[in-house]
Amino acid sequence: MIDTKIKQGRLEVICGSMFSGKSEELIKRLRRAERAKEKVMAFKSVLDNRYGLENIISHSDTTHQVHAIDSLDVVPGLVEQAGAAVVGIDEIQFFSSDALAIIQSLVEQGKRVIVAGLDLDFRGVPFGIIPTLLALSDDMVKLHAVCDICGADAHFTQRIINGKPAYYDDPIIMVGATQMYQARCRDCYVIDKQPNWSQL
Ligand SMILES: [Zn+2]
Repeated sequence: MIDTKIKQGRLEVICGSMFSGKSEELIKRLRRAERAKEKVMAFKSVLDNRYGLENIISHSDTTHQVHAIDSLDVVPGLVEQAGAAVVGIDEIQFFSSDALAIIQSLVEQGKRVIVAGLDLDFRGVPFGIIPTLLALSDDMVKLHAVCDICGADAHFTQRIINGKPAYYDDPIIMVGATQMYQARCRDCYVIDKQPNWSQL
């Protein structure tokens, strides 16, 4: 059980595939902190405009007010101004490696920092700064979705373009294509090739 009373800084990472309930878990922890009378601030990447820029909203429709930002540079100033003790950041995989020093510094100042994000991209490659954050964290949880094909626990995000599994080398943006994502278990996840692990 996570102690919500702040004694010293800590970093918590919530990771998993799409549809695994990451945002919902983040909102739950922020609300618990608020009930414990902690001052809370939440941020997300401007790249996540699924639900507008004012809220984190989970797939189960729970919401929390949020600041949409394109870099974490502004976070320490806003946190200090607000006197926040707890800092939540959603979709952390969209931020660059510059975010690491800022997060570490917030933790060293005694803040409880809770980040949520995708641990693997659709190719099955560890996503951005998440692996480093997992290593630095005090506490982490890997959430599972339900496989859209067989119902088993799923931790892969399947990209589907024009109704078929995407290829590993498909561009991130495909003009004119219809694209969707599903949660899939290891058996049902389909990709045409493996990452080159020695070059990651
Ligand atoms: Zn499956």
